[in-house]
Amino acid sequence: MSKRDYYEILGVSRDVDQKELKKAYRKLAMKYHPDRNPDDEDADAKFKEATEAYEVLGDAQKRQAYDQFGHAGVDGQAGGGFGGGGASFSDIFGDVFGDIFGGGGGRGGRGGPQRGSDLRYTMELTLEEAVRGVEKKIRIPTLTSCEVCDGTGAKAGSKPKTCPTCHGAGQVRMQQGFFSVQQTCPTCRGQGTIIEDPCDSCHGRGVKEETKTLSVKIPAGVDTGDRIRLAGEGEAGAMGGPAGDLYVQVSVREHELFHRDGRNLYCDVPISIVDAALGGELEVPTLDGRVKLKIPAETQSGKLFRLRGKGVTPVRGGPAGDLMCRVQVETPVNLTSEQKDLLVQFQASLNGEKHSPKKKSWFEGVKKFFEEI
Ligand SMILES: [Zn+2]
Ligand SMILES: [Zn+2]
Repeated sequence: MSKRDYYEILGVSRDVDQKELKKAYRKLAMKYHPDRNPDDEDADAKFKEATEAYEVLGDAQKRQAYDQFGHAGVDGQAGGGFGGGGASFSDIFGDVFGDIFGGGGGRGGRGGPQRGSDLRYTMELTLEEAVRGVEKKIRIPTLTSCEVCDGTGAKAGSKPKTCPTCHGAGQVRMQQGFFSVQQTCPTCRGQGTIIEDPCDSCHGRGVKEETKTLSVKIPAGVDTGDRIRLAGEGEAGAMGGPAGDLYVQVSVREHELFHRDGRNLYCDVPISIVDAALGGELEVPTLDGRVKLKIPAETQSGKLFRLRGKGVTPVRGGPAGDLMCRVQVETPVNLTSEQKDLLVQFQASLNGEKHSPKKKSWFEGVKKFFEEI
């Protein structure tokens, strides 16, 4: 299925600025939005198409790639792939960002069980690790429940006592003039209990700082920004509350050969002027080793060759992306005088512009440019 041109979809010219682009997209989105066109498959398709086009053209980098390589330059990034699928990783890409790092819930006033804080750990991965998946050990500082006092903070054999000031409520009423104000109990700091005989091991805190080693399974296909939740591996809760969660945040290092963009990989491949002109077979690297790539005769520098399925299988599921090999024709260096002679002879043998596909239109462009000035 061939895709329509993104500019055409949005009904804008190729030199449209961001403001106009946004306006054009907004107009289409309003018109075809599913909420306004229930059960209208055609409108739904148009809405998705426009959204995909805007996702690419609205992003300077993707727009540039699209301008240069067309759909091949941006395929697999826009649109598709998101949405409801990928339910198999229920522990991944958790829920909503907002309520996670705000500090575990239940911190309000009253003493009583408190959920431990969530922890975040940034894990750097190589591209290979991210693509294939990996199991890694990490060491994280954490507060764990004191095993000597079982998290109560009171010395073995003793128990926390009900706070005599607030009688266990954690809050006290203070009379200030005509007003009665509710405040956190100053004696027990809202816990409702006090420890007369603190545990020696944790000094009455009920928790201890420790470094723990965890084994983390990173599923294949993750990318920078993905998070993996390890339920209950965060900080210990207080007063018998549940532990928080640990979030492992993935950060993938740049690779020296491959550049990753979503499910596609890009790689530059140098090629000699002779192979480019006559065609030939190159060995190109993939993440699974070398493969042969046939280059047709008359290949121009910058041409992209697509190796299907040699990209990344996304963690959310779906087909593997492609490896895009960008051919770079190299100018030969360190030539001997014989080789230079051959090139001079070669140059003399050339007959007009028919050997230079770009040159003619380029010169015409230059001429037109100066005429218009
Ligand atoms: Zn203790
Ligand atoms: Zn109290």
